[in-house]
Amino acid sequence: MSAKIRWKFLLLIASSLTCFGLLQWGLISMGQKPFLPMTFLTLLGIILLTFFIHQRWMQSIEARFTKTIDTLQAEWNQTLKRVSREKEDCLRMMQEMSEGILILDERGRIRWVNEALRTLFAFPEEATGKSPLELIRHSELEEALKEALKTGKRSSFEMTLPSSPQKIFEANIIPMSSSPGMDAEGTEVSGAIAVFHDISRLKELERMRQDFVANVSHELRTPLTTIKGYTETLLDGALHEEVAFSFIQIIQKHTDRLTKLVEDLLTISKIESRELRLNLEPLNLSEVLRDVLEFIQEAAQKKRVSLQKDVSIESIWVKADRFYLEQILLNLLDNAIKYNREGGEIKVSAQLKDQGVEVSIQDSGIGIPSEDLPRLFERFYRVDKGRSKELGGTGLGLAIVKHLVQAHGGRIWAKSQLGEGSTFFFTLPRSL
Ligand code: ADP
Repeated sequence: MSAKIRWKFLLLIASSLTCFGLLQWGLISMGQKPFLPMTFLTLLGIILLTFFIHQRWMQSIEARFTKTIDTLQAEWNQTLKRVSREKEDCLRMMQEMSEGILILDERGRIRWVNEALRTLFAFPEEATGKSPLELIRHSELEEALKEALKTGKRSSFEMTLPSSPQKIFEANIIPMSSSPGMDAEGTEVSGAIAVFHDISRLKELERMRQDFVANVSHELRTPLTTIKGYTETLLDGALHEEVAFSFIQIIQKHTDRLTKLVEDLLTISKIESRELRLNLEPLNLSEVLRDVLEFIQEAAQKKRVSLQKDVSIESIWVKADRFYLEQILLNLLDNAIKYNREGGEIKVSAQLKDQGVEVSIQDSGIGIPSEDLPRLFERFYRVDKGRSKELGGTGLGLAIVKHLVQAHGGRIWAKSQLGEGSTFFFTLPRSL
């Protein structure tokens, strides 16, 4: 017999006995004599019925209680899972961030650091438990961390580390409140987070931009002042004097310089804003060079500089943009003439190399001091300012050449012997 049927059977007997009891109580109240076995059976029925009701009641309470506990347990497990997943996501996210992150406990000891921080500050593998100041020596950081842990005050500042190259960080110190969701200021502090953003490159770019603006202004001011000065002198009466012609020639020279400077600046800005679209095509190097040499022949003849094209060039084909390749060659050959001695030589050669075609332009000119070679391709960098300006240079030619070579996927460098000459090398992709 199943438990359910057994219980129903028992309930039936208990109910019947109780009914008999009630019946007997009715008969007694009508004057009948009590029947003892019947009284006993009634009592038994009442006990059984009470026991039965108690059992059922307990069972239902237990079932409801178990259900509630199960639901609570499931919800708790889910919450635990969600919290641990969120914690993992949060740690992974902080681990992947490019900013360095340092988490401190309430005593100011390191609890956790991310990979970026290890790299930025060259932290040892085991940093947990150490004081951050053992690893980063910086007085402002020390003060800010102490203040954050003591008063819960946030702070943000720029810190420079005397490394080589110099590193500049933007540091943000965020105290953690022991009451979740509350600002730590004025409450009990349970630790602090320090976030370090490496702004060295940003600062470097900012400095370069400022230098560039200062250089451009300076370059523009000199010819403009000269033009203004001579124009005023002419207007003041010199126009009808003998010197007028030479004054106008000076004005023209400076106007040409200004035009060249503006053209070079436009080319630089076009290259740097990535507007430059290369039309790459297979080009015979010798053919391109022939056109360029023709163009500068007059300038070379004026200085009696002989131009030689090595036979190696004949069979070489490169993959390049014709217009920009001409500009590269023109700038380098123009310098080779400008900075050459009277009656000097220039030799252009090319070689096939693993990385493509290596072109070299060798001159017998004044040469470049070895300490100037690394900075030669910077904008406005000149070895001899006076000579460059005298020769109509803008100081932008090599910067443009470097950008153009790099846009073709090549590289450029120079070798030189002071007083003996210089050789400029650049590579270009080869056309098969
Ligand atoms: P610039 O307009 O002054 O010629 P460039 O950017 O073309 O500017 O060159 C930068 C500097 O490099 C020049 O001012 C010059 O001092 C030096 N330079 C470039 N080419 C040569 C060369 N072939 N021989 C000697 N010095 C050179």
